[in-house]
Amino acid sequence: VDIGEREARAQRAAAAAQTLRDQEIAAVALTFVDNAGITRVKTVPVGRLEQAASWGVGISPVFEHFLVDDSIAKEGGPIGDLRLMPDVDRLTVLSAQPGLAWAPADKYTQDGDPYPGCQRGFARRMAEAAAKSGLTALMGFEIEWVVGENDDEGGFVPACTGPAYGMGRIAETENYVAELHAVLASQGVEVLQIHPEYTAGQFEVSVAPSDPVGAADTTVLVRETIRSFSHSYGMRASFAPVVFLGGVGNGGHLHFSLRRDGRNLFAGGDGPSRITSEIEPFLATVLADLPALVAIGSPAVTSYLRLVPSRWAGAYQCWGSENREAAMRLVTGSVGEEDRVANVELKCFDQAANPYLLAGAVLASGLAGLAAAAGGGRKLPEQVQFDPGSLAVEDCERLGISRLPQSLDESLGRLEHSETLPTAMGQELFDAFVAVRRAEIERFADRPAEYAVSKTRFRY
Ligand code: GLU
Ligand code: MG
Repeated sequence: VDIGEREARAQRAAAAAQTLRDQEIAAVALTFVDNAGITRVKTVPVGRLEQAASWGVGISPVFEHFLVDDSIAKEGGPIGDLRLMPDVDRLTVLSAQPGLAWAPADKYTQDGDPYPGCQRGFARRMAEAAAKSGLTALMGFEIEWVVGENDDEGGFVPACTGPAYGMGRIAETENYVAELHAVLASQGVEVLQIHPEYTAGQFEVSVAPSDPVGAADTTVLVRETIRSFSHSYGMRASFAPVVFLGGVGNGGHLHFSLRRDGRNLFAGGDGPSRITSEIEPFLATVLADLPALVAIGSPAVTSYLRLVPSRWAGAYQCWGSENREAAMRLVTGSVGEEDRVANVELKCFDQAANPYLLAGAVLASGLAGLAAAAGGGRKLPEQVQFDPGSLAVEDCERLGISRLPQSLDESLGRLEHSETLPTAMGQELFDAFVAVRRAEIERFADRPAEYAVSKTRFRY
């Protein structure tokens, strides 16, 4: 950011601050999501928004190495300073936190350069790379959460126990669902649906797709809204991959589609299930990269307690049209609306993921597949139209259907050997991410699974 850009930012922020004052807003929460997947925050009074937008707010680089439990990987240090710069265009008044507004922030160096370790910056670079090749990417994250409370033995008591997807849970939680709709709408979030999910105390919200960075911003906004809104009902919300052992977990499925000249490349084509042959190498490469991508999209030690067969978590590296046990599900849409709605859902991810890193990594993988496609390109394997979990392991192997990694150690190994992802992320971001993941593995090693589950239940 040069001085002209700083002035332009200051002007936009001054105008925004005036509207905030008119609404009696006292402060703005500037958030970023760290490499542990935790949303961290600095708040500034409305009177400091102009300063914050043009020169940033100080943030130590040590946060690049924070773990889920606030311990710090050995690579982290207290030296240096970064500038947290709010994106004023995304400024939102928080209905569930009266007096507070929110804006996602980017990290810059003191020299005014984008910080290479910035997770949001990575997502933006990849979205720009897609745009450069004429592609418009739309993304949307599904958000599942469980409301409840710890018991004295480290176990969990759900706040409602009515039937899965049952209307009973709406009654049990009084006006929770109706008011949540209203709160999200008043924040400009376009909700597609909210419904009770499978596990006791579990709900889900899906939101309309938007550009990749915008989708990651929205998932942060929605999760933090649900967290504080649930508090006002005397309930605690958990977005953890596994809230209690043995139950179905919280997914963080990523939906995306790609368009060229306004036309959906996942519909009306001549490839399998009518995707276009132009986009097939993108999808085939993402599918091939899934074992490495789950290190980013399912990055907690506990993620691998969720990513198991027959829980709709997409534990198998395969794709299928409307197959909810395939890690990659093609959502075709109904006849007549395919161009508008066809998209791909990656089910194997959860909300321990940093959504910016995940959006960026999926784009990086697919774009590398397109770049390598001159003279053909990678093809998708045969579609899988059954539950691979219903087959014997040998039969799955014979059909070429593999389980996705079964531990963070395994997926990290795949990520470290990936030809595209470390380069796309850049050394600084990649090294910090891996350091955090390795340290979390160490943190929870030699402990029963229950330990990591109860320690992280209300962290995510
Ligand atoms: N809760 C499931 C998961 O862990 C997903 C359920 C669904 O298909 O929406 O991903
Ligand atoms: Mg669901």
